Amino acid sequence: MAYELEKQVAVAAVRQAAQLCEAVRQTLVPEAIEKNDKSPVTVADFGAQALICRALAEAFPQDAVVGEEDANDLRQPEMATPLATVTTQVQRHVPTATPDDVLAWIDHGNGTVSSRYWTLDPIDGTKGFLRGDQYAIALALVEDGDLKVGVLGCPYLSFDGGEQGLIFVAVRGEGAVMMPLAGGDPQPLQVVQDPQSERFRFVESVESGHGDQRQQSAMAQAVGIQSPSMRMDSQAKYAAVAAGQAALYLRLPSPKTPNYREKIWDHAAGTLVVQEAGGCVTDMHGKPLDFGKAARFEDNRGVVVSNGMIHTDVLAALAAK
Ligand code: AMP
Ligand code: MG
Repeated sequence: MAYELEKQVAVAAVRQAAQLCEAVRQTLVPEAIEKNDKSPVTVADFGAQALICRALAEAFPQDAVVGEEDANDLRQPEMATPLATVTTQVQRHVPTATPDDVLAWIDHGNGTVSSRYWTLDPIDGTKGFLRGDQYAIALALVEDGDLKVGVLGCPYLSFDGGEQGLIFVAVRGEGAVMMPLAGGDPQPLQVVQDPQSERFRFVESVESGHGDQRQQSAMAQAVGIQSPSMRMDSQAKYAAVAAGQAALYLRLPSPKTPNYREKIWDHAAGTLVVQEAGGCVTDMHGKPLDFGKAARFEDNRGVVVSNGMIHTDVLAALAAK
């Protein structure tokens, strides 16, 4: 099987990071630290990036990692307390880790897009994490612009009253599966096909600043989706489409931030999981997302994720609006 080692390393690293995030959430009541761009980050974001980068650097020392966080802020003297907390959390998994190790592992995630690289969002949906809602640990391997392995850890997600805490794993050409984060058998994923199903609904961000909720509802209605959206933080939305819990995920540029460019780590793992479950992912103009150039999509606007069947209709509705 292709990419077997990559898959195993990625799954183990995401599981470890998920444990760290839940430990922070359950014991520390995470606080937001404000980044330069005003977006929030927590000790769990830093700890998760440290653990995953460490695992990748050890197994694949040649591979670049393009991660969301960097350690610049954590190096400032006034950040000694958060750095100590991150180190303590990392030491639960790597007992010998020092603060300097932690800073170096986090900064290993400052690589650039190249012919083979990983992209990582250590906590996607930090706002959801802080609110006690959905969040995801998202890791993907990209070769020559093509997604090869995608892993999404969703510690707070459950479907149909099942176990809480799921991990979604896809390898290009080999399908997508989900498993309990705590361990268990993989279950193959398949997008929803039946338009009569109650699952023929759509998902969108909780944050109105991350999408155009008015337009998203209008487009869903235009393709025959009558029920109101399910609002979820993070790439758990991709997981919902892949698992057949929703037929459509719309992320149209928010009128509040018309010039925002989406980031590769917010979409890479989710995209492969959905594609391998039989679904389709493009931007709002029908172009494939370009993972081969840079950390932000310069030539893609908005994101449309569907079960495949309705994709052309959604793009047509968007073109006609
Ligand atoms: P979600 O949980 O789906 O709302 O998405 C969370 C992600 O939205 C974060 O990881 C950010 O990278 C991203 N984000 C931040 N600002 C914006 C924006 N103005 N439009 C779209 N996405 C954004
Ligand atoms: Mg994110």
